[in-house]
Amino acid sequence: MNILQDVDLSQYSTMRLGGHARYLTEVTSRREIEEAVAWAVEHEMPPLMIGSGSNIVWRDEGFEGLLLINKMMKYEDFAEDELNHYLTVGAGENWDSVVERSVVAGLSGIEALSLIPGTAGATPIQNVGAYGQEIADVLVSIEAYDLHTRTFLTIPASDCASGYRTSRFKTTDHDRFLICSLTMHLLLQNPGPPFYRALAEHFAEHSITTFTPQVVRDAVIQIRSSKLPDPAKVANNGSFFANPIIDAGLLTQLQADYIDMPYWPVGDDSGNAKVPAAWLIEQAGFKDFHDPETGMATWPSQPLVLVNEHASSTADLLKFKQKIVDAVQTKFQITLQQEPELLP
Ligand SMILES: Cc1cc2nc3c(=O)[nH]c(=O)nc-3n(C[C@H](O)[C@H](O)[C@H](O)COP(=O)(O)OP(=O)(O)OC[C@H]3O[C@@H](n4cnc5c(N)ncnc54)[C@H](O)[C@@H]3O)c2cc1C
Repeated sequence: MNILQDVDLSQYSTMRLGGHARYLTEVTSRREIEEAVAWAVEHEMPPLMIGSGSNIVWRDEGFEGLLLINKMMKYEDFAEDELNHYLTVGAGENWDSVVERSVVAGLSGIEALSLIPGTAGATPIQNVGAYGQEIADVLVSIEAYDLHTRTFLTIPASDCASGYRTSRFKTTDHDRFLICSLTMHLLLQNPGPPFYRALAEHFAEHSITTFTPQVVRDAVIQIRSSKLPDPAKVANNGSFFANPIIDAGLLTQLQADYIDMPYWPVGDDSGNAKVPAAWLIEQAGFKDFHDPETGMATWPSQPLVLVNEHASSTADLLKFKQKIVDAVQTKFQITLQQEPELLP
């Protein structure tokens, strides 16, 4: 086990900000997880596992513990029959490479999750989703190390409490499980309509009428690349805010003032609705906004993405975030919630 000391955390967040980690090590196997946790316990410091830092904002104060970078690799496709495939992947695998391999094999179920940055092991944490699919739709189980019992266990998908951008790993069992691998149920068949609106529009525009996992993946990549910055080139964490869900009363009240306000009913009888955070941010005056005070900006084609142009600290980012939250709150009485996790 190679333990590095006093490591700059800005290299471990695609926002490129944050203090230092006291200790850091990469883990590639179950044995290395046990060794690293034992070392952390012996040195009386907390262990914390991450993937590739695309959903993390590090505090300027840094992390006084042992940071574990998951590098556990595996890609196993078990075909139960001609239709049903069970794909087990290591937590450290690059997520988009997993999607690409499964799509090339003709499998359907995660093709719309193409180009989401990060590792496979992080996908169940916030139940990643895009273009009408989310990992919970195909998740069968997770293999994890339980820091409470210091044993490995298998957690079935039904015990993950997955919801919109959330799961038990983000809430009740935050900091408890180190995810080693996950198994997904994919189908050897072509996807079919109805597709998520942006995809359906793309297909109509390009007269695409034959659908394969590859066709959907190509469309998603084209749409995402036109709207979102590449974190390898522009420091960002993707969507910085979740789309808020508002109650029926507030919806009626806001519709009276903003007749063109977009929203989607949440799909139950409550009358509650999800409002696009991007629209709220734009209306609050932050479209293509470059803030000289903090060095932060909103991405021109997607104001939901905050980009670090020349911020010098996480404090700058949080100050900019607060300006947006306050403006949206004042105008719409809606409190935006941050999506990337502020760590530690
Ligand atoms: C440009 C851009 C676009 C994005 N688009 C989307 C999108 O469309 N949909 C979406 O849902 N998300 C999106 N994201 C967010 C991000 O890509 C996902 O949340 C991704 O799953 C994070 O993976 P990661 O490996 O970088 O996780 P990290 O940022 O390293 O970690 C995120 C959280 O998961 C925990 N974690 C990570 N790995 C493990 C593990 N093996 N065991 C235990 N805990 C772990 C960490 O402690 C942390 O709490 C986007 C981000 C960017 C930068």
